Amino acid sequence: MELTLSIIKPDGVERNLVGKIISKFEDQGIRIAAIKKLQLTRAQAEAFYAVHKARPFFGELVEFMTRSPVVVMALQGENVIQRNRDIMGATNPAQAAAGTIRKDFAKSIGENTVHGSDSPEAAKNEVAFFFASSEIC
Ligand code: ADP
Ligand code: MG
Repeated sequence: MELTLSIIKPDGVERNLVGKIISKFEDQGIRIAAIKKLQLTRAQAEAFYAVHKARPFFGELVEFMTRSPVVVMALQGENVIQRNRDIMGATNPAQAAAGTIRKDFAKSIGENTVHGSDSPEAAKNEVAFFFASSEIC
């Protein structure tokens, strides 16, 4: 069974979409192995998105992610890294497929409602970024 990291971003939490988003995962048989709500510090957001440091949107991304609380989850299931990405939809909601989280809820390429790990290595690092192994069950 794989684990992957999901984040419901500030725009999703602000609009009370937490339950609707979690339903998209649970309806597909994906389990929540760990969950918490927190407000990211600037240092945490910069570290989490360090891979995007050189991108022109980095400053905007850090501002957005620290604007208000997020909900972070470790999702568990077979092939859940890829399945989460499929359920999320394309980064740009204008290009996201029907029924995906980003198609249904996201407002823009920046405020796109959810994060999901994009590889096994990222999933391992990102789950560990937020959760101790004792918090995952
Ligand atoms: P994804 O979240 O689909 O894996 P990326 O890893 O490419 O997408 O980008 C990380 C996040 O940075 C995106 O989810 C989005 O919030 C933000 N982002 C990406 N591209 C842009 C852009 N062109 N303008 C503003 N924000 C962006
Ligand atoms: Mg990414």
